[in-house]
Amino acid sequence: MQLKDKVALVTGGARGIGKAIAMTLARAGADIVIADVNLEEAQKTAGEIEGLGRKSMAISVDVTDYTKVEEAVNKILDKFTKLDILINNAGITKDNLLLRMGQQEWDAVLNVNLKGSFNCLKAVSRPMVKQRSGKIVNIASIIGIIGNPGQANYSASKAGLIALTKTAAKELASRNINVNAIAPGFIQTDMTAKLSVQLQQKMKEAIPLDKFGTPDDVAAACLFLASEDSGYITGQTIVVDGGMVMV
Ligand code: NDP
Repeated sequence: MQLKDKVALVTGGARGIGKAIAMTLARAGADIVIADVNLEEAQKTAGEIEGLGRKSMAISVDVTDYTKVEEAVNKILDKFTKLDILINNAGITKDNLLLRMGQQEWDAVLNVNLKGSFNCLKAVSRPMVKQRSGKIVNIASIIGIIGNPGQANYSASKAGLIALTKTAAKELASRNINVNAIAPGFIQTDMTAKLSVQLQQKMKEAIPLDKFGTPDDVAAACLFLASEDSGYITGQTIVVDGGMVMV
């Protein structure tokens, strides 16, 4: 088992890609903490992880609130005594064309996707630096690399997350902490189900592998970056998109 007895924190892990990541890391032997605003769903996912024979805990956390994030990390350390892996997955969209985008839409997306990831990264850095080990994986997006009409807020938040990944990787490398990002393309979740059929069709035509990705496709890359198999990789962004964006 690649992650035997490791402890992983997955933000936004109650459903969608975060849930698939949580289940995959648990199957690889990790104990999992699900931190999500949706406590009821988070508890259900934690129950499924316990069904796999791993320890799990669900915590109600809004990642935009640094005090709450720090409290959550302290709770994890109290219960599990260590924290090996952080998956910064919580993310939202509030799409609108630039000229129509309101301050609230901009702030909400930047707050969750970028500040929320910074908050979690900062809170876990202290125990990881003390341990002299850690794996941090930030879930970005190909939209943070190529941009997308109607997603000024989202693209800026994910581009910022990719840059944050590089800086954190440089700052934490000497403490044996790897920081990497994944940039998924079009993955079938509740987030993408709300897009129009026409837009979904247009996206599919741009995918060389001719199919949408699944949360498990992202989870597989995440397992690699959370494990020792990727020990010599840091500051990188792995694109999981069926070949849409080739950088
Ligand atoms: P979902 O909307 O399906 O799930 C996101 C989860 O995060 C939900 O459980 C949600 O809770 C939770 N969440 C939202 N805001 C917060 C917050 N402030 N604090 C804690 N938890 C929060 O999203 P996906 O699974 O589709 O996406 C997961 C990540 O992958 C995101 O970062 C997204 O940007 C990224 N991504 C997704 C792609 C896709 O095609 N789906 C493509 C590229 C990147 P609630 O249920 O209450 O909303």
